[in-house]
Amino acid sequence: MQIAEAPRSSTAATPDRVNHWIGGRRVAGTSGRRGPVYNPATGAIAREVDFASIEEVDAAVAAAKAAFPAWRATSISRRAEILFRIRNLVEQRREEIAALLTAEHGKVTSDALGEVARGLENIEFACGVPHLLKGAYTEQASTGVDVYQIRQPLGVVAGITPFNFPAMVPMWMFANAIACGNTFVLKPSEKDPSAALLLAAILAQAGVPDGVFNVVQGDKVAVDRLLEHPDVTALSFVGSTPIARHIYETGTRHGKRVQALGGAKNHMIVLPDADLDMTADAAISAGYGSAGERCMAIATVVAVGSVADPLVAAIRARLPQVKVGPGTDPASEMGPLVTRQHRDKVASYLDSAAAQGGTVVADGREHPLYRDSEGFFLGVSLIDDVRPDMDCYRDEIFGPVLTVVRVETYEEALQLVNDNPYGNGTAIFTRDGGAARRYQFDVNVGMVGINVPIPVPVAYYSFGGWKGSLFGDLHMYGPEGIQFYTRAKLVTSRWPDPGTSKIDLGFPRTR
Ligand code: NAD
Repeated sequence: MQIAEAPRSSTAATPDRVNHWIGGRRVAGTSGRRGPVYNPATGAIAREVDFASIEEVDAAVAAAKAAFPAWRATSISRRAEILFRIRNLVEQRREEIAALLTAEHGKVTSDALGEVARGLENIEFACGVPHLLKGAYTEQASTGVDVYQIRQPLGVVAGITPFNFPAMVPMWMFANAIACGNTFVLKPSEKDPSAALLLAAILAQAGVPDGVFNVVQGDKVAVDRLLEHPDVTALSFVGSTPIARHIYETGTRHGKRVQALGGAKNHMIVLPDADLDMTADAAISAGYGSAGERCMAIATVVAVGSVADPLVAAIRARLPQVKVGPGTDPASEMGPLVTRQHRDKVASYLDSAAAQGGTVVADGREHPLYRDSEGFFLGVSLIDDVRPDMDCYRDEIFGPVLTVVRVETYEEALQLVNDNPYGNGTAIFTRDGGAARRYQFDVNVGMVGINVPIPVPVAYYSFGGWKGSLFGDLHMYGPEGIQFYTRAKLVTSRWPDPGTSKIDLGFPRTR
């Protein structure tokens, strides 16, 4: 395998090719397979990304396996010190990371900086690993017998990440994974792969030993090899529901621990007593932020009773305020979508909605950048009178299309959310504390906002949806992330005085 000339601290890929990172250095792909990486704001191919072969994945896993014994044996205080250094470097280089996100994902700079900040929280959480890995100890469980539990790393673990958070979602995973003493192989999205390489270089600069963090670029070939590789002990996945299901089923069939987070269709319930201005602002922010390409974006506003007409009017009145443009322009609030293919699929829901009886209040295809630019732009769109049997309700659109379902009662709203196959996030907007508490109690969704449209948990809690939004038992990052990346070992110990032992064939009893 050819090793690229890039020095250890090199920050990014060669201008035209995004490579792998294996064993502490950038490695040029040799499979001959590669894919385009676009600048979504111009529509031009900015660079290409290598697609790993099975042999290249095997090389990354082998590097991680070789690094595991020494990393696992590295003292917890030393691992925490390295995490602190990663934290400081990410903070120092946040603008550089954000620029890469804007260049390949398209999100506006302020949003990209927000992504880095939310990722950084997870590294900060992992800095507390000395505390997080404390076990439990029971003295005198039986006479002269102590019992204690320790948590040990799993070995080589892998992360497979989506296009929409190319820096934050890897940080959700690798920070806790390596803090716990595992070694890591990341397979980022092939749509915006450069941030992963920059992170690899930052980790190396922070003193993460060679082989502890590796990146294989690519597609299904790389993912499927990770799923079946005998030396990969656990897999964390974030992406769409069909692939999450495939990852969970295949990974567990191969005996691995798997957490697979899937897609979403997040509902915002608006009760008649809600503060109209605050609710309309929140619907706009959570529906169109990051061009709707967030797994916690609000997709559907559920307007209860008399609030529907004034709410739709208030949202509609705000639409012209949303400034759509290239992510690098400080005036832009919403950038392009990630690819032309995705943009066109998102736009197609405007036609199907109209054909199926919805009311298209605003059509993003009327935005000048949709018509006149080669970039993958779509303006903000609003569809009213949506019913659950329409495609724009049933599918995860993952774009700047907000849909409104009108219902008469709270019970109908709740039923709609609980019947939906996804259960990632939801929000209720009301001034009635009792109604909010009831919703929090009743709703079958993993993350609930009360007058908060995007309730992404802080890093010292864990992130996870219900139903088709998560396959597996443990949520991601935070305390459940520590649990995911470690396994318990129970020790029962006795230090008898010499000469006091005797044979006893009975089952050990504590009393
Ligand atoms: P995706 O499922 O297409 O891809 C995710 C990853 O899986 C990528 O690395 C991709 O290369 C890989 N992949 C794609 N097809 C594959 C296949 N057939 N076999 C094996 N691997 C495959 O998702 P995406 O389009 O990159 O991201 C958007 C999706 O992710 C949305 O559905 C969104 O809701 C979801 N998402 C969920 C969360 C969450 O926390 N629940 C967070 C972010 C994104």
